[in-house]
Amino acid sequence: MSKNALAEVSSTLGGLPGTGALEAPPKAEKELTFKESDLERIIASAVAAAVRSSSGLLADAIKESRKPYVDPKQQENDETMKKQMREQSERIAADIRASQDLCPHLQGSNPLSEQPKQTTSIVMHRRDTNDVIGICTNCLRVFRPSDPDYGIWMRKKSGNKISEAGRRFFLDPAAAQRAAAA
Ligand SMILES: [Zn+2]
Repeated sequence: MSKNALAEVSSTLGGLPGTGALEAPPKAEKELTFKESDLERIIASAVAAAVRSSSGLLADAIKESRKPYVDPKQQENDETMKKQMREQSERIAADIRASQDLCPHLQGSNPLSEQPKQTTSIVMHRRDTNDVIGICTNCLRVFRPSDPDYGIWMRKKSGNKISEAGRRFFLDPAAAQRAAAA
């Protein structure tokens, strides 16, 4: 029996139970009316949203593709190299500290020197803050006024003349000296 025939029977009999489903009810679709400008606006914003999301993906992909390839082996080598350099510079710093601790800070104290050891190998320098620092030409230790042994060494006769920076005058010379020493 065709669909139409069934519907006819159904309507003749005043509606058979369960036959209502045979006839598709009309879809309740609301008809919308737009002004042309509204429609344009809707389309434009939908397109813009689509472009935004796809351009974001594209930007991420470009960023990703620009990252240079790093060979893991190379990275491992670099790490080893850095570690070795760090260790080497720590060793050098420790050597310098040790030689400064052992240095007699006297002229002629270099094993190759034949000079009599009477005068210090400390050069004195008056800074523009009007305080004097000393530097041992042997071990490069710097003698600062804040060092506990500064007075002992700076009072000894040096084999070098004092050098001077141009003088500046400060309202608070002590503060300027502290700042320069820091
Ligand atoms: Zn020294």
